[in-house]
Amino acid sequence: MQITAEHVIRFLEYVAQSIKSHRDELTQLDSPIGDADHGVNLDRGFTAVLGKLPSVADKDIGTILKTTGMTLVSTVGGASGPLYGTAFIRAGTALADRYELTDDEVVVALEAALEGIVARGKAQRGEKTMVDAIAPGIDALKESIGKNEDILSATRYAVQAVEEGMKSTIPMLATKGRASYLGERSIGHQDPGSTSAFYMAQVLLKTLEEMQT
Ligand code: ADP
Ligand code: MG
Repeated sequence: MQITAEHVIRFLEYVAQSIKSHRDELTQLDSPIGDADHGVNLDRGFTAVLGKLPSVADKDIGTILKTTGMTLVSTVGGASGPLYGTAFIRAGTALADRYELTDDEVVVALEAALEGIVARGKAQRGEKTMVDAIAPGIDALKESIGKNEDILSATRYAVQAVEEGMKSTIPMLATKGRASYLGERSIGHQDPGSTSAFYMAQVLLKTLEEMQT
């Protein structure tokens, strides 16, 4: 599949839409185990990203993603801004000067994004964060691509893994981020960051599906 800068712009527009439509739900998830701002934080950030997209629409994919990341770092308050911001900046760095992407480059960019989140937040799997949704998704993606599946079927498989990872945070004890302040009381609630990651994964699949038709 030939993925172009235009597809990347469309993906970012869909992320902004999805975050806006799930804003209240994400904020509510952040209420029992956080400070009830996750949806509001991300909506502020992606609304700012939408405002920046026209100025980078004719640039390479690396520049588009780096601009997105820097905008998130500077506009999203809270832990998720630097974490998602670093993810987009690292993905952009991996794709510097590229106007078109191969399937393998999509995988490389997503791996770089996860590495950025882990480098910044130091969370391992099982600590009840966005890493619990994203890391299994990348594993599933790599496994599928390794079996010569195309990026579309690999992403379908990955989105299922992200959803399972998101749900797996419910029984977890939080040991990173604000939720960790609650200790045992963090158990029994779904992590908001793993949920926003699931919505982004869903939108990536939607973008790829549309390209097929
Ligand atoms: P804050 O916690 O500062 O209010 P948000 O509410 O926007 O920020 O984001 C909270 C989410 O950030 C959590 O649900 C979790 O998924 C994620 N998070 C927090 N700390 C970390 C970390 N160290 N590593 C990875 N993700 C983290
Ligand atoms: Mg919060």
